[in-house]
Amino acid sequence: MDTVIKKITLIDGSGRAPIENAVIIVGEGKIIYAGSAYGWNEAEGDTIVLDLHGQYVLPGLIDAHVHLSGSGEVDSQFYAPTGQMSLKILSNAQKNLAAGITTVRDLGGWSELEFDVRRSIQRGEFAGPRMCLAGRFISITEAGADYYVGMYRVADGVDEVRKAVREQVKNGADVIKMGVTGAVLVESGVPGATHFNFDEMQALVEEAKKFGKPVAMHAHGIDGIRKAVQAGVNTLEHGTYLYQDPAVIGQMVQRGVFLVPTLKVGWDIILAKNSIIPAWIMDKNKASQGEAERSLKMAYEAGVPIAMGSDVGTPLNYHGENALEAYWMHKAGLSAMDAILAATGNAARALGWDSWMGTLEAGNVADLIVHAKNPLEDLRVLADKESLQFVMKNGLIAASHAGDVLPKELFAKHVLTI
Ligand SMILES: [Zn+2]
Repeated sequence: MDTVIKKITLIDGSGRAPIENAVIIVGEGKIIYAGSAYGWNEAEGDTIVLDLHGQYVLPGLIDAHVHLSGSGEVDSQFYAPTGQMSLKILSNAQKNLAAGITTVRDLGGWSELEFDVRRSIQRGEFAGPRMCLAGRFISITEAGADYYVGMYRVADGVDEVRKAVREQVKNGADVIKMGVTGAVLVESGVPGATHFNFDEMQALVEEAKKFGKPVAMHAHGIDGIRKAVQAGVNTLEHGTYLYQDPAVIGQMVQRGVFLVPTLKVGWDIILAKNSIIPAWIMDKNKASQGEAERSLKMAYEAGVPIAMGSDVGTPLNYHGENALEAYWMHKAGLSAMDAILAATGNAARALGWDSWMGTLEAGNVADLIVHAKNPLEDLRVLADKESLQFVMKNGLIAASHAGDVLPKELFAKHVLTI
């Protein structure tokens, strides 16, 4: 039976202007029609009709950079026994779905447990978002590997790098994550320093491409960014010092390399009310936030495609608050609609999943969210659980408020409470 969602304002995730008095028709988990009510002929026969009285409907949001194994702990050394860690990953995944993040890309999991969690969700045993997984973060020998034991795969030299990629592919990775420069959240990490040599980066990208897997690079420093863009990576995570070389920005435009700026990480730390954040983390973030914003603005104005990634799981950066990243990107210079595009259509492109999801267009999976308030007026609405009415995944309601009077036939097997 088809579902008709009518009397809505449609923000379809393509970047196009909103359509008032729009209709979405969903059948067998997919969008059959999405657009103006004038272009739609009310069909005869059995349908479930949802009259949403002018509420705002968007594609389910996509967060292109999360860590399901972290819950925002201050010290980041989130060690937990295996069983407990699996449950933590599941619980964090569900917090995303209940907040309208229907797809997450995890760029650094924990001892492959996220693959097990994904299998359980795919089998229908639990509610959860779609998961695009990198498996382990491939890194040179450095301090972070001891700090995040289950997250890193240390690889030095071309042969070891190739082997590390093959391991992730074998485990079921959809994307390969490479640590090109030092990290902010590792005490002795130097964010500007280049880690892998160019031949290692080339080998990693070549190996990933052989299996059809895109490469996401963690990079702050411009030298590492320059080399990794040349080596052929698909997405640049963080990109803090990108502004230092406009020629590299030009190459990113030419090659279609996405920037995933992760501004929320820095803001959550800088705006922390109490002093529970270690001084070294605070100092490093204060030093780099302005530069990260400047890099985003320059890249955006030059035409680099932008995808939203919140890096939730890092200190004080909680699952479920992901969409505040869109607000911070808007503050740094993106138009409100382009910030939404970054969390929908563009994020799907960054994942390489845009042929079947990311926008509310005929043929795509019916992942959508309904908001009472207009997110274009204030993007913080996207993370406002009172505004969020319900979340649909594959055409079924996957999260709603307790006591909702939505039609029971539309409920998924497991429904989360918003
Ligand atoms: Zn990250």
